[in-house]
Amino acid sequence: MTKAGKLIIVSGPSGAGKSTLLGKVFRQSRLPLEWSVSATTRAPRPGETEGRDYHFLSNKQFEEKRAGGEFLECFEVYSRGHWYGTLQSEVAPRLEAGNWVVLEIDVEGTMAVIKRYPDAITIFVRPSSLEELERRLKARGTESVEDIEQRIKVAGREMESIDFYRHVVINDDIEQATQQLCDILKQYDPETTQTH
Ligand code: 5GP
Repeated sequence: MTKAGKLIIVSGPSGAGKSTLLGKVFRQSRLPLEWSVSATTRAPRPGETEGRDYHFLSNKQFEEKRAGGEFLECFEVYSRGHWYGTLQSEVAPRLEAGNWVVLEIDVEGTMAVIKRYPDAITIFVRPSSLEELERRLKARGTESVEDIEQRIKVAGREMESIDFYRHVVINDDIEQATQQLCDILKQYDPETTQTH
């Protein structure tokens, strides 16, 4: 009998530490987790790699894929002209293979995906406060002042959607948050008894 795959959606304000947290969960969990690599029209940040962090596309390439119906969902995430989208090709084959596919997408994207996959495991990762978020974004130093302001504004709006998510993880202490997220996922896999 083939095992059914699962869809895991992780959202939360930019700077809430989702990527670091998920990286640790991937290393620690024994579940068959796989990333869905999103497409975006934003430029790569230093250290980001094509095909690993994102599929970096031009506006024209993105639009062609959108017109061709290749996206499960896509949105202009920060209303600053950059598009982000989940490619069907990143999700469906992995689910069919029995893997647990992890989507790190925004709130709007989540709403669109759960219409198609109502059983998706939705998790919201948040910092303890918006002040803490601002501090982290400034410390990261990869966005302009305007970008940070925009992200804080969007974060406030996103936090209002927290109740749509099945689980909330407060990422103040990375080790605790990793354990919490591993425990949440384990709940969906009765066969797994250990996550370390
Ligand atoms: P960043 O530019 O910091 O990598 O990502 C910005 C935001 O875009 C994050 O909140 C992330 O969750 C969201 N995002 C990344 N990929 C996708 C996607 O494929 N679809 C949607 N809707 N949002 C995405």
